Amino acid sequence: MALSSKLNKDGFRVYCLLGDGEIEEGEVWEAAMTSSHYKLDNLCAIVDNNNLQIDGSIDKVMNPYPIDEKFKSFGFEVLTIDGHNFKDILEAFNKARNIKGKPTAIIAKTIKGKGVSFMENQVGWHGKAPNEEEFNIAVKELCN
Ligand SMILES: [Mg+2]
Repeated sequence: MALSSKLNKDGFRVYCLLGDGEIEEGEVWEAAMTSSHYKLDNLCAIVDNNNLQIDGSIDKVMNPYPIDEKFKSFGFEVLTIDGHNFKDILEAFNKARNIKGKPTAIIAKTIKGKGVSFMENQVGWHGKAPNEEEFNIAVKELCN
């Protein structure tokens, strides 16, 4: 999409949200190499770096660290932010918009389930929904 935008002079930017477990997949790095090769400065990848994936902590399953150095080595500008801080997020998007000649990767440090006491950093919540009681407790905690 980012390459199409460049070739057709459409002028739109592309934002791609990636999980930190997802970046263990080879196609991500093929796309990253392609993005750099074509100098896709209209592409901004955001990595949700919560350290967890469905089978456990990412460093135990298939360690992708150092994520920032990997993206740099693939020709990206890299920004690391607190992924829960909206000011940081907006500033990073503004910086990325002004980076020319290469794509940007924003490494957003996050906590899975943040704000819900029984979900924070619990890998078991990666792929299941809360029951009604858990849902009501979670909403109450998030709204306080
Ligand atoms: Mg993750």
